[in-house]
Amino acid sequence: MLTEFQIAVLGGDARQLEIIRKLTELDAKVYLAGFEQLEQSFTGAVKEKLEELPFDELDAIILPVAGLQPTGEIETVFSSAPLRLTEEMLTRTPAHCVIFTGISPPVLTKLAEQTGKTLIRLFDRDDVAIYNSIPTAEGAVMMAIQHTDFTIHGSSVAVLGMGRVGMSVARTFKNLGANVRLGARKSEHLARAIEMGLTPFSIEQLPQEAETLDIVINTIPSRVITAPAIVKMKPNTLIIDLASKPGGTDFQFAKKRGIKAILALGLPGIVAPKTAGQVLAGVLAELLRKMDNRKGD
Ligand code: NAP
Repeated sequence: MLTEFQIAVLGGDARQLEIIRKLTELDAKVYLAGFEQLEQSFTGAVKEKLEELPFDELDAIILPVAGLQPTGEIETVFSSAPLRLTEEMLTRTPAHCVIFTGISPPVLTKLAEQTGKTLIRLFDRDDVAIYNSIPTAEGAVMMAIQHTDFTIHGSSVAVLGMGRVGMSVARTFKNLGANVRLGARKSEHLARAIEMGLTPFSIEQLPQEAETLDIVINTIPSRVITAPAIVKMKPNTLIIDLASKPGGTDFQFAKKRGIKAILALGLPGIVAPKTAGQVLAGVLAELLRKMDNRKGD
């Protein structure tokens, strides 16, 4: 239980509702800022104006998965009023109060440093990344269905990268009957591809592979789909780039060649906000329970 905890949830999207549900079930006192338009209510959660939160009593602050916007504002789909976390607010929190976020853009990292606050990036965790790879793979299937006129079954699909997302995406497309080729740079990743029944190739060989491919799915956060590969692609090849901004594709060149290339970001929050929220809620609850011992320090 989190009976003694006072936690502020600041803005966010549908994923936050699962977090609020979980925290209130565990008996934490939850303050919600940036939720004026949320009709649903939770026993144990109160809506407050951000400036009126009892910052000096908070044990944790939960930000949206994107952290802060480059402008410093907190994004929320449940309010149209601007929401801004200030240095003064954080300075008032107790020493043990931590900030949870999905990722940390520079503006948030700087604010945490300036105020000496511990920032916990949930998306850095392997377990969260692996759980999130499931809705991401399902989202990639959705994109492939929406943007092609052929079945995934029987099509030739290249998945680039054998990390947490790449592995799940490759397995999902293989299970749907695609002929999956896996592009990576490390020999252990190529070995894993063979073990999974995929056809491995060195990422440098993408231009040689390109002309046979129907769909290319990138998970490598580095520019890997470049002109030498794009010029070889068939006109109806679809590129689905899952890697975080700016993706790994030369989008300008793809456009010039008439190749459809889509940067498909934030898929877990789009295709399965409830599941994605439950993943975050479960990990958060575990981390807060561990924090319980440190509260009196
Ligand atoms: P990860 O586990 O770190 O995997 C990244 C893979 O890229 C690794 O296998 C890495 O291999 C490879 N790689 C990195 N630089 C490379 C290069 N220059 N050449 C060849 N391979 C290279 O990351 P992840 O969790 O799978 O996430 C992958 C990307 O998807 C991230 O950008 C993440 O933010 C994004 N993501 C997007 C969504 C979405 O909805 N679109 C959802 C979740 C995650 P090495 O070991 O050889 O470095």
